[in-house]
Amino acid sequence: MEFEEETLLDSDNNKVEIQLRDIAKKVLRYYFEQTIFFNLQQSSNPLKPPVLVTIAKKLIGDYQGYSGNVKPVKWFRSNIESVCEKEYQKAVNAIVTALKTDVSYRFLRVEGIEVEGVYQYAKKADSLFMDIANLRVLKENSLLVFDAINYRWTQMLENFNTSPRLSKKVRIIDEDQIRRKPLGKFSSYIKTENPSCECFLCGRSIDSETPAIDHVIPWSYLYSDDLWNLVFAHQSCNSSKSNVIPSEEMIQRLEARNKRLCVLMEQQGKLDKHVSELQMAIDHNLVRKFWVSCQG
Ligand SMILES: [Zn+2]
Repeated sequence: MEFEEETLLDSDNNKVEIQLRDIAKKVLRYYFEQTIFFNLQQSSNPLKPPVLVTIAKKLIGDYQGYSGNVKPVKWFRSNIESVCEKEYQKAVNAIVTALKTDVSYRFLRVEGIEVEGVYQYAKKADSLFMDIANLRVLKENSLLVFDAINYRWTQMLENFNTSPRLSKKVRIIDEDQIRRKPLGKFSSYIKTENPSCECFLCGRSIDSETPAIDHVIPWSYLYSDDLWNLVFAHQSCNSSKSNVIPSEEMIQRLEARNKRLCVLMEQQGKLDKHVSELQMAIDHNLVRKFWVSCQG
């Protein structure tokens, strides 16, 4: 979290007042993005997620309902404050309450011992106070602090998530762009096995448009683009199924497709990085393993 220089100027003495409301907005943004992209578990009981996750999920549902867009979106592109203003304000208020009742005072104690000097918070107050000097140190070391927080956060998430690339998923939330690389380079491979461009999802042929390239096991889970997981689909079939866990029937079809594709590649003498990854995925049964683990 970063605080602007103006916050410092508003202060008197050598303490800075930070409104919980300003913190809540940053917290909401963080949870919104982490949930909409990766939906990681944050507690041992998936039916009883932490209150901040519940608030973020509710807002995501409202946002997707109003905007009609089910694809994950970065906060700064979401325009959420105007798409569903009321719901956004409600979510911020709910987070302020959570910060007041359950969060802000906790960090004043470390392993049961009261710590002095990080910040001061009077229970149920609307803001907390921090020494300017402490705030400056935090700002100057913000990169180190981020890495330390992300490291601990990843360790915590490892208790409840089997999904791959956790630390990358955690780290990426701090970046402006979650890069979804263009998948066009996979087209010619997929086409080798599927020359008539049949849609993997509905089975009909795709003739009047460029086929979309679909991740059978959701991208949000794998956070990677691999030939063994990519198929053609209609644009509309693709966009209506975002992040849905595939059925066993689809997994069987993907496994069979991969075997046929691998044989064709060998026959054509095409043995590059993507093909050797395809071969490895078949040898190690990756499709089925990831399918089983992505179901939680
Ligand atoms: Zn289709």
